[in-house]
Amino acid sequence: MNDPDVVVIGAGADGPATASRLAREHGLDVLILEGGPWHGNDQWPEPHADAGGTVSTDPDDLDGKLLDEQFTHREADANDPTHGYLRVGPADHSRAPWFRNLHQNAFIWQVGAVGGTSLHYFANHPRAYPHAIDEQDHWPISYEELVPYYQLNEEVTSTQQAPMTAKEEVFIEGATNAGYPRIDTKNVTETGWRPQANAVSDPGEETPTNQPLDADYEGSFSYDDGFRGDTLVGDHFQGGSTPVDAPVREKSRKSANVSWVPRALDTNDNSDAGNVAIRPNAFVTNIETNDGIGTIEATGVTFRDSWSGSSQTVSTDVVVLAAGCIESPRLWLNSGLPDDGWVGKGLTTHWFDWIVGVYDDETVAEINPESEHMDPYIGQNSAVRFDKPGVGGMEDIGMSPGLVSYADYLFTEAGYSFDTPVDPGEPWDTRGYVVGEDLKRKMSDYRQTKALLILTDDLPRQDNGVSLDNTFSDEHGPVPKVKYEPHPDDDAKRDELARIAANIHREAGAEHVHRSEWPPLLLHMQSTMRMGKVLDENAEAKNVSRLFVADHSALANGLGGPNPTNTGQALALRTADRIGDLYF
Ligand SMILES: Cc1cc2nc3c(=O)[nH]c(=O)nc-3n(C[C@H](O)[C@H](O)[C@H](O)COP(=O)(O)OP(=O)(O)OC[C@H]3O[C@@H](n4cnc5c(N)ncnc54)[C@H](O)[C@@H]3O)c2cc1C
Repeated sequence: MNDPDVVVIGAGADGPATASRLAREHGLDVLILEGGPWHGNDQWPEPHADAGGTVSTDPDDLDGKLLDEQFTHREADANDPTHGYLRVGPADHSRAPWFRNLHQNAFIWQVGAVGGTSLHYFANHPRAYPHAIDEQDHWPISYEELVPYYQLNEEVTSTQQAPMTAKEEVFIEGATNAGYPRIDTKNVTETGWRPQANAVSDPGEETPTNQPLDADYEGSFSYDDGFRGDTLVGDHFQGGSTPVDAPVREKSRKSANVSWVPRALDTNDNSDAGNVAIRPNAFVTNIETNDGIGTIEATGVTFRDSWSGSSQTVSTDVVVLAAGCIESPRLWLNSGLPDDGWVGKGLTTHWFDWIVGVYDDETVAEINPESEHMDPYIGQNSAVRFDKPGVGGMEDIGMSPGLVSYADYLFTEAGYSFDTPVDPGEPWDTRGYVVGEDLKRKMSDYRQTKALLILTDDLPRQDNGVSLDNTFSDEHGPVPKVKYEPHPDDDAKRDELARIAANIHREAGAEHVHRSEWPPLLLHMQSTMRMGKVLDENAEAKNVSRLFVADHSALANGLGGPNPTNTGQALALRTADRIGDLYF
């Protein structure tokens, strides 16, 4: 490829959606530079041990069986943020991960690789609450403008209603007994529960043996034997490469490496399309601009090859920042671009909490006679949710045991449960760390335990976000310093949702309810380069022309609480159209 028309920085959840749209609809040549490795691509057979190829433009390079080998499905192999194959750091695993300065009790969970953090994600794809876009006064565009892009994204990512297993039946029992109605729209304006919209293709009616996919299923799970869609094995955190043997684009969970990346590369079906090239292991260290007088204009980028250490500059007509909520502002600031006080600021995180319910077998069997246990590892990680526009929402979640012990009992800001009092007026029995013998007892109830993730409608505040650490640099310049402190108004919303969650557990018959009282867990991050502040209504930087942002940092707020990726990708698709119309 000669100088591309557009350079996209980051091949995470959103960057490949923009690139695909620019190539297919606007006929443009696009280069995506991704700082992390690429899994499931023949050019990089050992992505963590060997430099492999340089760039891939061919959908035939994608190899689903190679992905199955590289994504082992084992918890520690995948999820360890230092050594796991899904981490933020150089592809070369003999080197340490990249440091972020987070000086508080909190944890950042991201992935740097082709597919980005969507390699971990549970693919829950609700739309934003219309209220958060039209009535909260942060957005320069209307909800209605996003709807056609939601529709396109939902089609490409196979977004549909998740199939239910025992744990979801228990949630529905609790929500119904608590008096909440079922919601039957994607554009949610009222309070209630609904099946989860997620980007995971359905296991369908047909299996290789024509048996239904339940506890008695004894057939093959291989794509080569005819298995299609999700195997309900709950492996999404570990990279989710099921069904085994499937080509990359037929994997059931539609992370960006499965949905938008193959579509971006595969432009042969469209004779007007441009060309997309993706170069992994290429970390952008500077956004180049003109030196002229007047408006600053982006003219290219400089990137560093993470294996060789050599740097290179690429010229282009338009630069799209899609490096995520931490690295997009960091790169902006390290490039010396103008800061009007909002660059990196306004971070929203859905100020999560985690409410655990422990059930006995009889309760579960009464609700769902086919299952003796809830078995949180069976089924999609989340298949049902609750919404309360103006306050936030929650979702029912099941995970593998290592993650469950951490999330349920070992991640808290409340102190140790044995000496942390519980207000008798509150609907939970315990809160805080559970350790020692008590932790063993609780984990022995793993098969009857599940949790509700609270998603708070926290609002953007200028105190929260990303700045540069002026005491520590890595090979890409000063590292990002990240800070998130909830506002008392956000605490009040989180408390309200925690009480609703505990009540739903109680109404379903939980014998013990535990509030984990999480500190900030930064894995839904939005709005650090907000439209309406840093960006205009086209998502172009107000102070640098030809520089657009197309990742979750461009979102003007936290969408009211719904998981952000469907909206991040929808907005990224709209931004591609704005780029095409404005500059080409
Ligand atoms: C366990 C887990 C579960 C989740 N579940 C859901 C869910 O169910 N639904 C949902 O909507 N969201 C979910 N999320 C959140 C979702 O994955 C993220 O919100 C989303 O991936 C963010 O998209 P992004 O494009 O902004 O950034 P990312 O996906 O993080 O992508 C950014 C990419 O840019 C690259 N990059 C960074 N800096 C540079 C640079 N300077 N040069 C080149 N490349 C660079 C990174 O390596 C990365 O690949 C989950 C997250 C986690 C961790």
